[in-house]
Amino acid sequence: MSDTERLSKDIETIAGFSESPPEVGYSRPTFSAPWRQAYDYIIQQATEIGAEHIIDAACNLHIRHPLVGWDRKVWLCGSHLDSVPSGGKFDGVSGVVIPLEIMRRRPELPLEIIVFAEEEGTTFNLGMLGSRLWAGTLDPQTMTRIRNRHGETAAEAGAPHGLDLASLAAAPDWRTRLQPERYYGMVEVHPEQGLGLWDSGKPLAAVNRINGRRQLSITVTGQANHAGSTGMSGRRDALAGAAEMVVALEQLGQELDRRLPYTVLTVGKLEATPGAVNVIPGQVVFSLDFRGQEEALLVEGEQRIHEIVQTVSERRGLEHEVETIEQLAPSPLSEHICSRLQQAAAARGLELELVPSGALHDAAVIAQVMPTAMIFVASRDGISHNPAEYSRIEDIGRAAQLLEDMIAAGEEDHR
Ligand SMILES: [Zn+2]
Repeated sequence: MSDTERLSKDIETIAGFSESPPEVGYSRPTFSAPWRQAYDYIIQQATEIGAEHIIDAACNLHIRHPLVGWDRKVWLCGSHLDSVPSGGKFDGVSGVVIPLEIMRRRPELPLEIIVFAEEEGTTFNLGMLGSRLWAGTLDPQTMTRIRNRHGETAAEAGAPHGLDLASLAAAPDWRTRLQPERYYGMVEVHPEQGLGLWDSGKPLAAVNRINGRRQLSITVTGQANHAGSTGMSGRRDALAGAAEMVVALEQLGQELDRRLPYTVLTVGKLEATPGAVNVIPGQVVFSLDFRGQEEALLVEGEQRIHEIVQTVSERRGLEHEVETIEQLAPSPLSEHICSRLQQAAAARGLELELVPSGALHDAAVIAQVMPTAMIFVASRDGISHNPAEYSRIEDIGRAAQLLEDMIAAGEEDHR
């Protein structure tokens, strides 16, 4: 079997571990039976090549080959196996099977494979749990409060798989807390989940930054009234006002994106009350998700969002409230690792562009603790979190080669 055939077989086998049939998409909620089957498949593949595995106190899976051992300084490479409901085959999975394939080909390379538990955030409504617990940036007690759709807490659901909150809190060793000195750095390979690479015909890019994010909730209040007997003048229609805001916010997003590419602004959820065909809407609540590469731009954008909401409200006699739900600063990734990746690509005649990531990843968590970068693989039509998600197996093979070349290029300590 060739390298790409093995990668393809791994991806297809893991796709078979799903709560839903393929036509609906691939569903592996964390700590579910299919999620565990996917973990066990990776363990079995590692065991077949003589590699050893450890599941840490946050339920992340670590794999090393005895030719390297657990004490040597290595590169940490991996991603996640959990999926959103009805997700695609490649998200997370490709980033796990690539280092597995590298370990099959070159077991002597300084490499540790990692599979992070619960990246997506759809199982317990909170994402990147495994990486954050291991990196020490999430209070372990959080796991006793968040629940899955069966009503179980993350602590209860994770216990049979080795989740150990007491050890996480005490953090006595590397199995309970990431020790950066054990690693040269981390590289996560992931589908791009955007159009950039596919449209430009490039297979891969290096990710040098993960976009920051603001999430806001905006409430617009007018006056509910009879749709038949209230004349058009003097109405305080909260939905008409919100609609004007949504269009102005879209224009703001377009303007900021022209100034600094990869800026995005989305109103994804809007609810009008009372929500009746014959009543003028009295109140509207809508969400706003705003992401960009630079904190200064996010600060300015947030200010302008407030201005838009205020201006439209005043003109229409509406009341408004803007609540900030989440503020995450952009997270720069390691320039040094990106340039190592670019050098390795250049040696094979491939120009590797530097791009930011619009989506969050475990890499953003690990980047807070040690040098980290990502490799993006082109996604057809930019579609992700959807069963139609697709990356070419040749591109996944190229990513494996690139990562292998970078690891093999030497182990000098760059910090
Ligand atoms: Zn992912």
